[in-house]
Amino acid sequence: MMRYVSTREQTQAVTFATALLRGLAPDGGLYVPQNIPTVNPGTWEKSTDFGTMATNVLTPWLGDEIPEAELKSILRSALNFPVPLVRVGNAWVLELFHGPTLSFKDFGARTMARLMNRFVDGEPLTILVATSGDTGSAVADGFSGLPNLRVAVLYPKGQVSSIQERQLVVRREGVRAFAVDGTFDDCQAMVKTLLVSPGQLRLSAANSINVGRLLPQMLYYYWAFASGEWKSADVCVPCGNLGNLTAGVLAHLCGLPVSGFIAAHNANDGYPRYLAGETDAFSASIRTLSNAMDVGRPSNFERLKFMLSDDRMRRMIRGSSWSDVETLASIRRVYEETGYIADPHTAVGLAAARGASDPVIVLSTAHPAKFPDTIKRALGSAPEAASGLNSLYAMPVRVQSIEANPYILRSELENWD
Ligand SMILES: *Cc1c(COP(=O)(O)O)cnc(C)c1O
Repeated sequence: MMRYVSTREQTQAVTFATALLRGLAPDGGLYVPQNIPTVNPGTWEKSTDFGTMATNVLTPWLGDEIPEAELKSILRSALNFPVPLVRVGNAWVLELFHGPTLSFKDFGARTMARLMNRFVDGEPLTILVATSGDTGSAVADGFSGLPNLRVAVLYPKGQVSSIQERQLVVRREGVRAFAVDGTFDDCQAMVKTLLVSPGQLRLSAANSINVGRLLPQMLYYYWAFASGEWKSADVCVPCGNLGNLTAGVLAHLCGLPVSGFIAAHNANDGYPRYLAGETDAFSASIRTLSNAMDVGRPSNFERLKFMLSDDRMRRMIRGSSWSDVETLASIRRVYEETGYIADPHTAVGLAAARGASDPVIVLSTAHPAKFPDTIKRALGSAPEAASGLNSLYAMPVRVQSIEANPYILRSELENWD
């Protein structure tokens, strides 16, 4: 029986369904697995079909709550896009951006939407999502149209790229977008406050706060190892809120032979500082070109601390951080050396992976076409538009500006229509 406990240890262990629907634990902590199941290598090694592999890997986690055939059909419909592993110079790049909103957030969002839809009963559930760029559109897209779920997306006004913003504010059934006067950290704080004080609402969160996003994000780590020829490898992760990295750590704790993680950060370098031994390393977020990684106080740090001792964390994970100038240089160098166009987030990862011993897998978190201005600055011309992005501009939009005040948001949501 898999059960989940809060990082703050003040609440009872709950089922996956409960942890998923609640988002945050009632004591304000994050849900973590009470114990770590063993995932037998035979279930994923040499896999050639993502859906089958995904079902096998998640059965030890979810098997007692969802029948296997149903789990398989949820995973197949959620993760219905390719996940190629491509050679770029001396690194292997795992492209996680072939879902509908062109970032790796589609893995977590699409799977969570279907799982929540499976578990929710009659009463409508409002999903809150704070986004520094990509989560909001993935969640809005993944959840839209499901009858018992509605979504409120919060993003820091003026701090996401114009394409990201357009993806957020396109009118979708059951979705409202709020442009918050504040930073991503303010948006995240509003979500946390409301989850603890929901008033009349039935609320949940679809951030990497939600444990339901971690499970599907483990899957592509397995896929990389199933697709490659190596016995063990380093994995380099472009990091913001540390959800992606936490999912990799969970996969490793279940037995995946990762030799070490590289946590690649932009100028928001609190976590690398912590790994280097600083005790009071985190501070307010600052804006960079890799804006989905602009997180000052990453919420999943609390999970990592719970799951790993400081010593073990520092042995398992190496941190590094890269400025915007270095990010642009990385885009340019990778293009000149290999012809590959990396988005600014992936470029931070590729910079961090340079000089790592072979084999190193770099998770590519977004499609370069989402960041035409930055690519143009680095290379002189914008990347080819991705299919689906252009049509966004013909669609109607709906967005509301709001102060960074959780109680104003709460009354807006209590009067949804
Ligand atoms: C969200 C995001 C990240 C950071 O991932 P975390 O799980 O928050 O650490 C990196 N790159 C892109 C493109 C993202 O959207």
